[in-house]
Amino acid sequence: STPGGPRSHEEKLFVTVRVRPLSQKEQEMNDQISWDCTDEHTISLKNLHPGRPTPSYCFDKVFGPTCLTWKVYEEGAKDVALSVLSGINATIFAYGQTSSGKTFTMRGITELSVKDIYEHIKNTPERDFVLKFSAMEIYNETVVDLLNRELGPLRLLDDHEKGTIVEKLVEEVAKDGEHLRHLIDICEAQRQVGETFLNDTSSRSHQIIRLTVESSFHENLRCVKSFIASLNLVDLAGSERASQTNVDGTRLKEGCHINRSLLTLTTVIRKLSGGKRNGHIPYRDSKLTRILQPSLGGNARTAIICTMSPALSHVEQSRNTLSFATSAK
Ligand code: ADP
Ligand code: MG
Repeated sequence: STPGGPRSHEEKLFVTVRVRPLSQKEQEMNDQISWDCTDEHTISLKNLHPGRPTPSYCFDKVFGPTCLTWKVYEEGAKDVALSVLSGINATIFAYGQTSSGKTFTMRGITELSVKDIYEHIKNTPERDFVLKFSAMEIYNETVVDLLNRELGPLRLLDDHEKGTIVEKLVEEVAKDGEHLRHLIDICEAQRQVGETFLNDTSSRSHQIIRLTVESSFHENLRCVKSFIASLNLVDLAGSERASQTNVDGTRLKEGCHINRSLLTLTTVIRKLSGGKRNGHIPYRDSKLTRILQPSLGGNARTAIICTMSPALSHVEQSRNTLSFATSAK
């Protein structure tokens, strides 16, 4: 691949940027749009100081404020999502500061992935498919089941065949698209429950929706060629939790806000994008990376959608997001 340039869809790590529109509040406060999406691969800071060079960044795709989610899905996530149907593990992340559009984007991506997966199943009658749904939230290095919070904190166990497994995690067989959407709604509601008990959880917690596809077909009454693969749809904690500094550039209180899973994930992704020469990849340093390990690196496909506000008031955080995105390429 060319340094900094666009790459093919076949690459294992596909990195895109999505800029949301100015919010109502930002408009009312007369905040300014401070980024130009120069072309479909490039985003640059508007020239606020004439005479100085404007930083610009290049990615697999850049989606501007008027871009709709279906397009983000088609061009930034679909290939990765559907690879699960050929037995390849996949992960799609939304990464960005709080209020940059992660949840908005992942809801749409999840809905569109589900629709396409069922479409494919319908069009492949010669195969049998079983779709299983599970969902978890990681808050403060504690894993809970979003289908059943009552189970309390879940332990991670090392299985010599399957790798890390989440003990007691509920796996529901999804009968059809409607059932699956119902399960997603349950998780949404459960996430809200968490929100009312703990302040600010959505900025601190990671949500993983996992669709596991089992596939097989019959030949001479024998079941052959089966595979099993997972698609992980991940709405990450606010990326401000991965940086040592506040939005205004002041240092956060030591150890206070740093999110271990997010920090480890950024390290893992940087190392994966750097290739083999980077040696040891610290999957085991956090709950999130342990859970995602089979779907991150190796043969797995990954799409990272970095979301950001266009506003001048968020420029520092947006630059942090873009520099993470750059390091992930
Ligand atoms: P995050 O999950 O990163 O904290 P949200 O997804 O909750 O951010 O988005 C913050 C607000 O901006 C929400 O009200 C959401 O509906 C809105 N929003 C985010 N992205 C877009 C978009 N691309 N187009 C329109 N509204 C958006
Ligand atoms: Mg959110």
